[in-house]
Amino acid sequence: MNKIIDLSEVLNFTVTINTCPNCSKKVFIPFGSRVHFNVRIYYQICNFCGLIIQNPQLSEQSSNIFYQKYYRELYNGSRNPTKEEQERQDIRSKNQANCLFNYLKVNNKSTPISILDIGSSTGAFLLNIKEHFPNTELFGVEPGEGYREYCSNIGLNIVTDIKEFQEKNLKFDVINISHVLEHISEPVDFLKDIKSKYLKKDGILMVEVPNTLGGHGAFEIVHPVCFTEDTLKDTLLLSAFEDIEIIKHSFSKEKSKLKEMYLLSISKSTNNVAFFKPTKKNAWLIKFKRRRGFENENYLNSLKIIIKELMIKYS
Ligand SMILES: [Zn+2]
Repeated sequence: MNKIIDLSEVLNFTVTINTCPNCSKKVFIPFGSRVHFNVRIYYQICNFCGLIIQNPQLSEQSSNIFYQKYYRELYNGSRNPTKEEQERQDIRSKNQANCLFNYLKVNNKSTPISILDIGSSTGAFLLNIKEHFPNTELFGVEPGEGYREYCSNIGLNIVTDIKEFQEKNLKFDVINISHVLEHISEPVDFLKDIKSKYLKKDGILMVEVPNTLGGHGAFEIVHPVCFTEDTLKDTLLLSAFEDIEIIKHSFSKEKSKLKEMYLLSISKSTNNVAFFKPTKKNAWLIKFKRRRGFENENYLNSLKIIIKELMIKYS
């Protein structure tokens, strides 16, 4: 890839979000901004339910260009899985597989017949699942060609497009969606679609995302939504999932002193229509927690910055 390319000239942020994807209210306030790969991106928070969204967001065309041309190279330095990437994914996946195993045990669920991993990447999750459930049928979806080939070579059943399963009328006992949901502009619509087409009745959904309040940068060009524990829960409840367990952890970056960089949720599908409505959250408190996430041992300093911001706002 040509490293000199200036992404700010290639990418267009032309999609303005007026309505909150979780609560449908139209009250956003600024939350933060960051320069990511030489492009300044802006985040706002819903002043009702606390959902943090990128606003404006990438046009569909820019988003396609970014994923096809730059995504893997910029993040991992290669279109094919690197050794570092494999190691990171393996640490993360071990934890996910253990958490699923415990959740099924605690909730008296039987061994899953089939598991689907959406965004299966290096196949690490499916390989770790194999150790717990050697007889479970494993499937994956991965659009990246280099990654898909890598998985096929180690004997995993990976497809390019999830629709292949719909055509075969295949549904799964467990679906894992790891580090995918923050890339989706309308997460509730996405989860409802996955649930209705691919998850069995009473099926289990696993979703892992960066924890915006746990010391994870989270603001990235291809992250239209940044989740907190509360807003991830809202998203799952709105998509009609129940018995939600959320585990905060920092697996994949074990050397990190921060202990809550990721949110791993495990929940059960319900057949009930979701009547859930998100409750009001305090946007300023969420701002404070975001800062505190980075400065874990320096609470007072974070408080001072927030009080200063509030004084400027109301003076
Ligand atoms: Zn909202």
